[in-house]
Amino acid sequence: MMRWICHIDMDAFFASIEQLDDPALRGRPVVVGNGGRGVVAAASYEARRFGVHSAMPVSLARRLCPEGVFVRGRRDRYREVSRTVMKVLGDFSPHVEPASIDEAYLDATGLERLFGPVDMLARRIKEAVRTATGGLTCSVGAAPVKFLAKIASDVNKPDGLFILRPDQVADFLRPLPVERLPGVGRRFMNALSAMGVRTAGDVLRYPESFWQRRFGKAGQVLFDRARGLDERPVEPLGMPKSESAETTFAEDTRDRAFLQRRLMGHAERVGTSLRRHGLSGRTITLKVKYADFRQITRSRTLPLSTNATETIFETACALLDALHLEQPVRLIGLGVSGFDHAAEQMPLPVAPFPARDETRRRNLDSALDALRARFGSRAVVRGRLFGEDEQ
Ligand SMILES: [Mg+2]
Repeated sequence: MMRWICHIDMDAFFASIEQLDDPALRGRPVVVGNGGRGVVAAASYEARRFGVHSAMPVSLARRLCPEGVFVRGRRDRYREVSRTVMKVLGDFSPHVEPASIDEAYLDATGLERLFGPVDMLARRIKEAVRTATGGLTCSVGAAPVKFLAKIASDVNKPDGLFILRPDQVADFLRPLPVERLPGVGRRFMNALSAMGVRTAGDVLRYPESFWQRRFGKAGQVLFDRARGLDERPVEPLGMPKSESAETTFAEDTRDRAFLQRRLMGHAERVGTSLRRHGLSGRTITLKVKYADFRQITRSRTLPLSTNATETIFETACALLDALHLEQPVRLIGLGVSGFDHAAEQMPLPVAPFPARDETRRRNLDSALDALRARFGSRAVVRGRLFGEDEQ
């Protein structure tokens, strides 16, 4: 299934709200000044024509645009409208990540079935935002990855709509100035410029290894962005980045069967929590603390995300099996991370495990979840845990 991410950006947000609330300001250059620091917080498009832009000192804005209407910001009101906008977005997808008070990412993967093709979805979002706010416009960009969606929302601003399809990404990126790529600040840009690298296309003239050697992590990110790669998922606010469980034992132990039973309990707890939150993750991490308090972790990344208790358990056990226990163990834990929110909407296109097996696991998990919801967490115990003492 194709990945689609929308970036929704309100147009001149604070200034537009002032114009919305006071019709006398419509069509006039409005500058919202940040009271304390004396810098422009937002400028209406009419004011931008005079060269006024945000973060500029208010004193300079007054000189550039003497006939401008200067107003102090009303933070509470802007927050109220922001909440309205985020709520509208939440009606389209549970996978909405507010990036600031006036912009958000929305994972639109798989929403075609509900709202039609992505351009139709984008139009509906714009219309819904306009209606809910009483007339505010936003610009929407849609692309296969986050950073391209953000750049796309800026293309036809204001009241814009720009869809960047996967087969257009290479042509779109080639002439794009490097400073438009996330992670390229002024200093990095100057260093690149000294090398004659001015566009994303220029970046690709050098091999990946060159960028890694020369600039480390920043170089790797630059190379990835220049070829349109960005694995960052849309992360709704308050969403945990990982889910984990661990126990410290009363007595240190080398008993692998005992450790496995503990892992089963942890996998059960973590799996249940993931399923309750509609999350699944690709990376399973085993954590072991030895008697001397030295701690080690081992991880495995699965080809597809999971929240099945048995899959989590088996992966953790494989990691434990591969581990030479140098000392008795005082703590064992496991965690699941690398959440893939969209995966929850997908009908398992390619299974990392035999498909029937994974389906059976899902059915078992949901049956157990339902029983526990009704009769309490200790009502049902898997065979592997049977005979365990209470912890
Ligand atoms: Mg904006």
